[in-house]
Parts: sequence; C-alpha cells; structure tokens
Amino acid sequence: MPSPRSLLAVLATLALAFVPPAAAGEHAIPDEAGLRAATARFAPVDLGADISTLPENERRALAKTIEASRVMDALFLRQVWAGNEPLLLELLGDDSGLGQARVHAFVLNKGPWSRLDHDAAFVPGVPPKPEAANFYPAGATKDEVAGWLESLSGDEREAAVGFFTTIRRGPGGGFVAVPYSVEYQGELAQAAALLREAAAATTQPTLKAYLEKRAAAFGSNDYFDSDMAWMELDASIEPTIGPYETYEDLWFGYKAAFESFIGVRDEAETQKLERFTGELQWLEDRLPIKAEWRNPKIGALAPIRVVDLVFSAGDGNSGVQTAAYNLPNDERVVSQKGSKRVMLKNTQEAKFNTVLVPISRVALAPADQATISFDAFFTHILMHELVHGIGPQTITVEGRETTVREALKEVRAPLEEAKADICGLWAMQQLVDKGVLDESFERTMYTTFLASSFRSIRFGINEAHGRGQALQLNDLLDRGGFRVNPDGTFWVDEAKIKDAVTALTAELLTIQAEGDYDGAKAILDRLAVIRPETQRVLDRLEDVPVDIEPRFVTAEELSGR
Ligand code: ZN
Repeated sequence: MPSPRSLLAVLATLALAFVPPAAAGEHAIPDEAGLRAATARFAPVDLGADISTLPENERRALAKTIEASRVMDALFLRQVWAGNEPLLLELLGDDSGLGQARVHAFVLNKGPWSRLDHDAAFVPGVPPKPEAANFYPAGATKDEVAGWLESLSGDEREAAVGFFTTIRRGPGGGFVAVPYSVEYQGELAQAAALLREAAAATTQPTLKAYLEKRAAAFGSNDYFDSDMAWMELDASIEPTIGPYETYEDLWFGYKAAFESFIGVRDEAETQKLERFTGELQWLEDRLPIKAEWRNPKIGALAPIRVVDLVFSAGDGNSGVQTAAYNLPNDERVVSQKGSKRVMLKNTQEAKFNTVLVPISRVALAPADQATISFDAFFTHILMHELVHGIGPQTITVEGRETTVREALKEVRAPLEEAKADICGLWAMQQLVDKGVLDESFERTMYTTFLASSFRSIRFGINEAHGRGQALQLNDLLDRGGFRVNPDGTFWVDEAKIKDAVTALTAELLTIQAEGDYDGAKAILDRLAVIRPETQRVLDRLEDVPVDIEPRFVTAEELSGR
C-alpha cells in the first residue's frame, strides 16, 4: 500500500500521460486540458462524397438510410453500457468547458472510457468499462452465465450463444435469451420504417431488396435473407446497417453490436479494380517462384466494393475509424455466398492527408517526402487485397496435400499479411512495366510504402499487420532497398529497391509453398522487431495525429442540418 503522498505523485504522473495504471482499478480523471489533448489525437476532417450524379429519388433513399443509421448510434450506446444514455444526458447539461470536453470525448468513444487508452475512464464516478457490455444480466458473473450456456442444448443453446440475443434474468430469476427484435423493439421498428421509405424511393432492384429484407429482419430477428441480399448489392448506394461485429462482447464474443456504414460507389476506382482483377492470372503466371508452384487457374475472388463514406454510426463510428470491412460474419451466408470487402476511399484519403503526410515529414528524407502520393497509397491497398488471392494456398508437403493455413498455423496471419504487402508492391511494378499502370508510380509507390510502414508499426507489432510491416521494413533495409541517413531519416535507393522487393516476395512465397513452419517462425523472430533506428523515428511522431474525427458534410447537407 503506497503512502497517500506517493499515491498522489503517481496519480499526477498518470494524468499527464493519460495512461491507466496497469493493475489498480482507480486512476486519475483527466482535467479539461488533458481531455482536450487526448481528443486532439483525432484530427477533425470533413468527409463527404460527390452525389451530383445521383437522381433525386436516390438522394431521398440515401437520406432515409442515414436517418435509420442515427438510430444505430442510440442502440450501440445502450449496448456498450446500461448507464450510457442517462450519463450522456447528464453531461449535456454541463455547459462548462470541462463539460463540453467530456461530451466531445464521450461521443468519440461512445461512452465514458477512452478506447485509445485501454478504456481508462474520463468521467468521475463511472465503473470500469464492463467486459460483458450490456449483453448479459447486471450482477451475473461470467462463470454463472457460462455454466448456464453449458447446460443448454439444441435450439435453446443456439439462441443463447447467437449473435442477435441478449441474456437477461427471467421472472423466476433464471437466465433467458431475449431476441434483439424484442429487446430493442421500439428503435428497430423506427429504423425499419425508415429503411422501407428508402426502399420505396430507390429504383435500383438490389438496393430495394436489401433495404426491404433488412427492415424485415429488424422485426423477425432473422438476418439470413438480408445478409444474402447484401452480398448481391450492385447499386450506386452501398448501405451496411444492423448488428454485425462482436468485439464489444469481451466475455464470449457472441453478441453483435449495432452499426452502420452508408457509402456511395466510387465509379472510377471500381473500374480500376476490374482492370486489376483481369491481370491477376497474368501476375500469378510470373510470380518469382518455381513454375510448378504457380496456380494455372486461380479461383474466383471475393467481391470488393470501393465507396466513399457518407455516414457511419454506432460501433462503426467509435474510436479509430474503420477504413475497410469484411462482412457478413454469419458462417451460413459465408459458406453459400462468400464474404464481401468494402473499402472506404475517402476515409483512407483523409487518413493519408492527416496522418501519413505528417509521418513522412518526420520519417523520410526531403527528396523522398516530395514523392509520396495518395494514388500510390490507395492502389497499393487495392493490390494488397487482390494478391491475397494469388500465390500458394493448397500445397504438397512430404507428399501429402495440405494448405498454407494448416501448415503455418499461428504464424500464417503475419506472414500472409507481409506477403500481401510486398507481393502487392511487386505486382504494381509488373503492371507499370506492362503499361497497365502509369510509369509515374515508379517514383511514388516505394516512398509511399516506406512512409506507410511507420504508420502501421506505430499501432504496434502485436498484431498481424504491424508484425508483417516490421518484417518487410527490416528486410528491405538489410537488402539495401531502404537506407538510413546520419540524421535518422529513411530513403529509397532506386538502384536496389526493385530487386529487394522481388527477393523478399520470392522468399515469403517459397516459405508458403513449402509449408515451412520453422522458416516462417525464424524470419518473424529475426525481422518482426522494432530496431533502434525505427524507434527513433517513432519517438518523433508524438505530435502527429493518431486518427481522424470525421464530420459528415454530405450527410449534413442531405438532412438539411
Ligand atoms: Zn490483408
């Protein structure tokens, strides 16, 4: 037990750093300046889309889906914590500077806990963020609920562990599963009515079908048909609205949180994507590996949509902004229809301008800073996704047929992410050489890739993308494709970078083709680390925003706000 004096000193330090203590349940609540500094890590940006080509009726449909999305915000708040809605009302009544700072932080985080700071509370008197969220009965323990789930079988168990039920206390004191359609009946009826108005306004059949089926799901609690309709969406408006991700349920990961992403299709990027997709077999045929490892006929790709985000809500607009998502999560839909990836181009562009450009000013030598470009950044993101679909997948190890997934086990994910990054860069060079991509990419793609590595590694090397990026950065340094100046800035050696990228692509693909688990582990252990020269750059990024806070200007115009 520390003395009161030393405890005060500790709390003062914590308030400055805005980091919660590792073990204690208490920590300092930030003052106004501390809270404003914490929220400033999210730089405000205007996010909008060009809707000038949408006819009047489609704009009306868009406006109605946005109205329905606002309902998702309220539902998500309630799902995170039962105390959220009353607390927000209370905070709104405090118009002091501190009160306003708290409301701002609350809206950003969708609750009184900072998502960038291990959920440290920033409002006095609130409990620690509940791991059970508001999906399980207040006062019940995880063991009690787990024991009850164990006792169930058949349909009862399916309902209780399903995405779309909450667990509550029944009249007799036992547990019961309550469908979302009952738990959130009032709000879901309101959202369904708005989606039906949107469906009535649009003349695009697949959009009409999704909106009508999703509205029906809000009432029936059966989301299957509407998930199937979402996979078939082929329209200028791309809505995703309903209960989806399960990250808020830290007990079991069963329960889906409400969210919404309303996008407008980006026609130019969609055409670009089609052009690249048409080149994938050509790329596979020239992968820098033994010919017998190349796939003579690559499989069909999961669909990808490129949209500009007009509005997001709920889980989809809390903390760090989503730049792309893969849905649905329902395995029945995935086994029949696969899944779809939606990429939010304007969100990516805002992150590029707000985060990546300032990072490049710290990390890159001046000549290289001048050549980074959003076009190269976004094209590489597209190529990353596409080349997940080429390279070894089904392989033969010691005469036995297996998969890369099975052979590489827990090191598969970081290795596959590194492969998609580096092979995507390799593929861009091939397409420049073939004349499919403009030759100006040769000047922009390597420097943009280098700056982008620091952005990924800054988020940490504990997850697959960060680990994969650290591996590539260090390997390309060792091969001389990237170099470090005496002043600590990094630069691209044009004479060596192409060969370095090809060599690393070959090395990772070979590990996959041979199902070489030990090789995969060895290269990650050796290279997925933060070296001192990288750490020195990371240390100088403190003033660069971590992410963006979008203001949805097109949605505001549409709603007349
Ligand atoms: Zn990936």
